[in-house]
Amino acid sequence: MRVGGTGDGKALIQVRDVSKTYTGGSETIQVLQSLNLDIDQGDYVAFMGPSGSGKTTLRNLLGGLDVPTEGSVIVAGDALSAMSRARLTEWRARHVGFIFQMYNLIPVLTAFRNVELPLLLTPLGKAERKTHVETALRIVGLSDRIQHYPRQLSGGQQQRVAIARAIVADPTFLLCDEPTGDLDRKSASEILDLMDLLVHEHRRRS
Ligand code: ADP
Ligand code: MG
Repeated sequence: MRVGGTGDGKALIQVRDVSKTYTGGSETIQVLQSLNLDIDQGDYVAFMGPSGSGKTTLRNLLGGLDVPTEGSVIVAGDALSAMSRARLTEWRARHVGFIFQMYNLIPVLTAFRNVELPLLLTPLGKAERKTHVETALRIVGLSDRIQHYPRQLSGGQQQRVAIARAIVADPTFLLCDEPTGDLDRKSASEILDLMDLLVHEHRRRS
């Protein structure tokens, strides 16, 4: 990653002069100011800062969940701010795998069905979806928990299901927001090891 972005236009993610201000009632809160950032393919970057410093705000901008007040975010050549909401939704489904602090699994669906969800937005048929889901669950080490419901899984296992769901559609990049925040120390370190493994595999393949 290059802070202050060199502007050579080759980085996978390019943040250019981005400012973000929230306006609510009479109050305005400036969270980000003239931010420039380049993140290359294969980079594994952590944003660190105290609560309220703007990490989630930045995540929302990089993932196309929100738009900057000023400046632009360009990912794989696409300028997110130029897209309509509908187009952005489509773009997100194709490019971004989200992993949150709370696993956000659907309680009434099995691990298999939870991981399958993003694929329902793609043209993949049932058999192909099954192969993808099984592969993703194998990568996160949960081949033996495919038919389990979230409540039958530990916190660490639920987060691994969430990671499987994030990678199943083979996104361009993963965005995590405090992915170990709700976990005990041992599960947290397993999740970080898994993230390392994913980055390593990705670099090996590309
Ligand atoms: P972090 O993730 O680093 O804890 P956030 O990006 O969530 O920080 O928040 C940064 C600042 O922006 C905080 O002061 C927060 O209160 C404010 N903020 C975040 N989201 C909104 C919003 N939707 N409307 C108004 N203020 C917000
Ligand atoms: Mg946050």
